[in-house]
Amino acid sequence: IQPFTHIYQLKLIPPTGMHSDYICPLCMKNYSQEIAKQELTEEDVPQKLLGGQRITLTCKQCNNTCGTNIDVHLLESIKSIEQRAFLPGTDRTVYIEKGEGRLKATLKVGKDKEMFLNIDTKHNNPKTWSFYHENVLLEDSIIDIQDAPLKRDARRVSAAILKNAYLILFARTGYTFLSDHFYDRLRQQIMTPEPYILPERLWTFQNVSVPDGIYLTKDNRYRGFFVVYSLRQKQNYRVCVLIPTPKVEYLFACMELRKIDGKSMIRVIQLPDNMDFMCDKKSVKRLYNWAYGWNLDL
Ligand SMILES: [Zn+2]
Repeated sequence: IQPFTHIYQLKLIPPTGMHSDYICPLCMKNYSQEIAKQELTEEDVPQKLLGGQRITLTCKQCNNTCGTNIDVHLLESIKSIEQRAFLPGTDRTVYIEKGEGRLKATLKVGKDKEMFLNIDTKHNNPKTWSFYHENVLLEDSIIDIQDAPLKRDARRVSAAILKNAYLILFARTGYTFLSDHFYDRLRQQIMTPEPYILPERLWTFQNVSVPDGIYLTKDNRYRGFFVVYSLRQKQNYRVCVLIPTPKVEYLFACMELRKIDGKSMIRVIQLPDNMDFMCDKKSVKRLYNWAYGWNLDL
């Protein structure tokens, strides 16, 4: 990461009404260069535990809030998919309950899907442990185990998926068009995931055949940016998010996205690698015109 790269773009094309060295892309608060060094943190996108990399800067508060509010829900929803499949190499917290109190344990799935129940005596009440040891966990006895509940609220998962796409796009294109108030609703949805600020939904988990990256749509029915990225746990999960241009209503984009299925051909062009939307004025101008127009070519 090159810290403060976005400053250069702000100097080139300052969004109207904004005067600062760096603006957090999530809360849009301004930070002067001196304060920025203490208040901004490098953000992994997607989160590190899902295979992300540090690609951008956000303020500490946004980073922490998103971590506990939404990122954990995305991680645990992926974990829950893998737990249900009993994938080799996974483990989970489980509870054993029978009469006297509850015992906490870890259920590990081995290489050949054999299962191990590890009970850590230090993290259980000694009385409960001895009760289970002497009365319940006996040879040939059958016990009931329950998965510990995971945090995986669908609205929060959705907000985390959107946030990753938004920050991937921001890391490449800076404030070329994302400073537009059109995206305030998107930012608001990320920061307050529960109410429906945006319609459902701007993303799909369909298996996409193109590599991870940012694609410009070459069809005005779903004009915008397809941000394709991977979430990595034991398995790989591909996500495709459609971030419309400021000219396209979110509801319209959602409806068009819903029509796309596994058999649909989607016309896209990859955002060219050799164009620098941070420092090169010509490239910024071309992307700006694309975002605010209807021409299909960049
Ligand atoms: Zn912020």
